Amino acid sequence: MSDELLITNGTVVSWKPGAELIENGAVACAEGKIVEIGRAADLEARYPAAERLDARGQLIMPGNICAHTHFYGAFARGMAIPGPAPKDFPEILERLWWPLDQALDMEGVRTSALVCLIDAIKHGTTTLIDHHASPNALAGSLDTIADAVEEAGLRAVLCYEVTDRYGPESARASIEENVRFLKAAPSRANIAATFGLHASLTVSDETLAACVDAVKGLGTGFHVHVAEHEADEYDSLNKSGLRVVDRLSKAGILGERTIVAHAVHVDPREMDILRDSRTWVSHQPRSNMNNAVGAADIDGMLRLGIGLCLGNDGFSNNMWEDWKAAYLLHKVWHHDPRRANGMSIAQMAIHHNAALAGIFFPETPPGLLSAGSAADVILVAYHPTTPMTMGNLPWHILFGFEASMITATVCAGRVLMRDRQLLTLDEAAITARSRELARLTWGRYETVVGEVLRKAS
Ligand SMILES: [Zn+2]
Repeated sequence: MSDELLITNGTVVSWKPGAELIENGAVACAEGKIVEIGRAADLEARYPAAERLDARGQLIMPGNICAHTHFYGAFARGMAIPGPAPKDFPEILERLWWPLDQALDMEGVRTSALVCLIDAIKHGTTTLIDHHASPNALAGSLDTIADAVEEAGLRAVLCYEVTDRYGPESARASIEENVRFLKAAPSRANIAATFGLHASLTVSDETLAACVDAVKGLGTGFHVHVAEHEADEYDSLNKSGLRVVDRLSKAGILGERTIVAHAVHVDPREMDILRDSRTWVSHQPRSNMNNAVGAADIDGMLRLGIGLCLGNDGFSNNMWEDWKAAYLLHKVWHHDPRRANGMSIAQMAIHHNAALAGIFFPETPPGLLSAGSAADVILVAYHPTTPMTMGNLPWHILFGFEASMITATVCAGRVLMRDRQLLTLDEAAITARSRELARLTWGRYETVVGEVLRKAS
């Protein structure tokens, strides 16, 4: 068959529970899926007509998965926030993210997505769960992003954040954008949809009810920020007398297809509700440190059996940076080097992220190398200087892996980067256009944030 790809002559890290490393191994792919894993010599004999991707002794690993990101944040790099530095996370939202999302036009939506997708291919992240906002380029924004993801050749789960920040008309339009895209996404091969909500603190009970009502019969879950800062809990208690997770549970938002991002300030009862409703939680340690919001109780959540995943919240799509941040953050936060064990990080970033992605792509589950799984594969030029087994692999990743070691990225059996050369996207052209558009976006941002600062003074 013409679309067969044989990734051969490397050490296969399948991450399948109980599986060992396969030295001199190979992975055979066809029709976007993995068909067989084994010894290179055996598979080369069995798939003589397949296109070859020679790993030359590198590691053959599943593509990384990001459980929570924001492509629209790409233009924030290097952007100055006028006025005094924001003193806490609510001020960061008011002075950075909310004015920036208002400043985006549709070409900005497309280009900021492409910038992040280039970054994802280079960093071997093949599945991205995005959470989008662009209130002045709203209708059709999810198609625009989906087109960019398809152009890149990656895999993504998209949603638009519903919020009351921009009035009832905008909230209604954002509900429609989610519903429309939930119906449209199944016609696209490597794109899935969920329903986005900003956060409890910017959504009224009426809007929550309208969202639940709008998706009846669609079988979707939601993707929502939860208790990222104490302000979300205070707001929820003021609004409803309930803590955030209780409020969302009562509204019908939680469940086994719902992702809550952060959960930094949830209490033990809220964790119980998340566990019992089989709601996924995503942890973004770089973002949490940057916003100084605190450290989620990741060891506690894992011990409770919560499906805790790893995301990057719009930081670079180098997921190993979030592995490292998670590994270090919880040690210093608790003054205890036993916190955030390497195996716990792998549990989140590999096994839970794969299980979450499998909800959205049940036909071709990404994240592990196994017959029937998505043919999402990366090559890593890591040649360990100490013994390496599946038992100590997390610590090799934490202390030895660098993003620069990723030399090839394959998604759905298609080679997107070979020998560090991008094959689907024109990086120079996208970079040049991004710089032009970012300058215009920053100009609009300054107008919006100027108004915010005037009101605050
Ligand atoms: Zn986020």
